[in-house]
Amino acid sequence: MTVSLFAALTIGVSSLPDAAGMSLKDILALGVARPDALLVRRLHKVYYGHTQATTLQAEARAAAIRRKHPLRVLEKIENLIASAPNKDTLRALLADTAAEDIPTVAAKHIEKKPKNEYARLTQSPDGWARLTIFTKDPRLLDFANGLPGVTPKSRNKLLDGFKEFVEGATRLAPPRRMVHIVLKLDEMDKITRGEGDDVTIRASDGSVRTGAQLLQEKVAPYFQATIINWRGEPIDNYYGREFTKKAIDMNTAVYLECLTPNCHIPRDRCENDHIVAVNKGGLSVLDNLMPLCRYHNGKKADGDSYWKDDQGRIWFQPAYGDPVLC
Ligand SMILES: [Zn+2]
Repeated sequence: MTVSLFAALTIGVSSLPDAAGMSLKDILALGVARPDALLVRRLHKVYYGHTQATTLQAEARAAAIRRKHPLRVLEKIENLIASAPNKDTLRALLADTAAEDIPTVAAKHIEKKPKNEYARLTQSPDGWARLTIFTKDPRLLDFANGLPGVTPKSRNKLLDGFKEFVEGATRLAPPRRMVHIVLKLDEMDKITRGEGDDVTIRASDGSVRTGAQLLQEKVAPYFQATIINWRGEPIDNYYGREFTKKAIDMNTAVYLECLTPNCHIPRDRCENDHIVAVNKGGLSVLDNLMPLCRYHNGKKADGDSYWKDDQGRIWFQPAYGDPVLC
């Protein structure tokens, strides 16, 4: 036994019996680098050493020989299954998997430990302290992104912003989470069927939530969603702070002038007004959009009001007198 141990790293599991009975010192004496020598010993123990699971060991060994896995691949398998409870079964399975598919197959069979959120503050005697918050709660991102100088794209000012905030020199900006989310049509379908827990959505600020959580959030004014089909083409877009161009175009096709009775200011010179104001829960959707000229939009502050009845007709209530159909 001299050459085969060197070659073992590229040859594979059938060279390992050569290491039987050799101490680490013996292997090192052959000129093998220490990490490689340790790997040879580790894998020899796994594939040829004493075990309760002799059948699975033999299966894994035979598969590794048949697949011609080099020792580096076998090492990768050991690392992947390190924390799994059923190592012997998994090893036999992965040893009989093409090298390039091993990570994918392993991921499918090894349960990921659920992550637990935590917050930790450590302090050393010389005054240095470290604050760690580990969570997927979107409030953490709201906090960070609400600090002065911090945006979802730039975190350079995180520490300065934090200091200013603690000194009371600034207030947090309102949450800008869900700047934009993209929903695939089938995900949208799942969410509306009440299976939103199965859908994971990543927003443009990096926060992640399930479809069910999305429905529970009361962030409509800050939230824009685009629904895309399977080709990635946008098919609808809604719930912005502003009306979408599409909503305005559709509204323009129906209303050609200011909606106030007897006002003939053309649509293109009108403002896009919310029938139910945003601060009263009105959404920036087609159903809540009406064109008003600047003058009549301004008069709303003096008591003019507009509303939509259940047949979709918009009514104008002047400051004095009866309501008029627009
Ligand atoms: Zn008008």
